[in-house]
Amino acid sequence: MPTSVDEALRLLAEHGSHAAFLGGGTSWALRDSPQVETLIDLRALRLGVVERRDALVCIGATTTLEEARRSPHVSGLAGGILERAIGLVRTPAWRNQSTIAGWLLQETMADPIAPTLLVLGAAVVLQRGPRRKPERVPLEDRAQLEAPGLVLHVEIPDNHGWRFALESLSVTATDSPIAAIAVGVSQRDGRVAGARVASTGLGAHARRHAAVESQLQGAAWAAASYASAQRTLVDEITPASDTRASSAYRRHLASVLLARALRRAAAASIRGEV
Ligand SMILES: Cc1cc2nc3c(=O)[nH]c(=O)nc-3n(C[C@H](O)[C@H](O)[C@H](O)COP(=O)(O)OP(=O)(O)OC[C@H]3O[C@@H](n4cnc5c(N)ncnc54)[C@H](O)[C@@H]3O)c2cc1C
Repeated sequence: MPTSVDEALRLLAEHGSHAAFLGGGTSWALRDSPQVETLIDLRALRLGVVERRDALVCIGATTTLEEARRSPHVSGLAGGILERAIGLVRTPAWRNQSTIAGWLLQETMADPIAPTLLVLGAAVVLQRGPRRKPERVPLEDRAQLEAPGLVLHVEIPDNHGWRFALESLSVTATDSPIAAIAVGVSQRDGRVAGARVASTGLGAHARRHAAVESQLQGAAWAAASYASAQRTLVDEITPASDTRASSAYRRHLASVLLARALRRAAAASIRGEV
């Protein structure tokens, strides 16, 4: 078991494609991978810490999702939206085992954590080889996480002045959502100064919706201005039909969840909540 990041990366380089890192191991329990002979256990690297560094909350790579959810740094961040998103995924037992880095590298971005981290502007800090400088990759640039080296932590800005909301609908409490939408807004003089909108369940991957965000930018902060954003969202998505819902239902749901999330974010700001 390596005790430093450089040692872990040296072991990976030594064993090549026959080795992989071990976070919580929950995806390994499901995988048949004859190629991988060595799992490099990351537990002794002391990367399981959630801490605040200036205006950032940093969640260490081996922090379990449940540890992250219970951290006061996470519950106190952005009105508690990330705490809520993590609590919506699977069961406490699963969340006690899955690590934040393992989730990031494995997940299909089909749960409410993904759009939440996207609207929060999260980034992944990783090191691609021994003695190399850590790199910061915005979560939106997922392609850069294809061959990530070793993820060290996820960092989330405190987004001072922004208000956030998450809306999600699932068939059962522990199922992946049919769709989930997270929004973040900042306001100036009764108008939207900044808007971030992200979804999951409405296409192949969780993603931001730039056209909807532009539509909201500068709009009067009133329910009437949501209608065009709702139309833009419905026009730009191509949801699939599956056993959970039809494509047509997902389109309808997308519009409803967006309006609800925007209303909730606006209400949070009226009450002066963060
Ligand atoms: C019952 C069950 C339900 C599940 N439900 C879901 C679900 O709802 N959503 C979902 O997304 N997944 C789900 N999964 C799949 C899996 O549990 C998750 O993807 C989980 O979050 C993986 O986290 P982990 O810490 O266990 O990662 P691991 O299995 O340890 O690793 C996952 C991948 O990440 C790599 N890795 C781990 N840590 C690092 C690091 N620090 N740096 C670089 N690479 C690293 C590993 O080499 C591996 O390729 C489920 C699995 C099970 C068994």
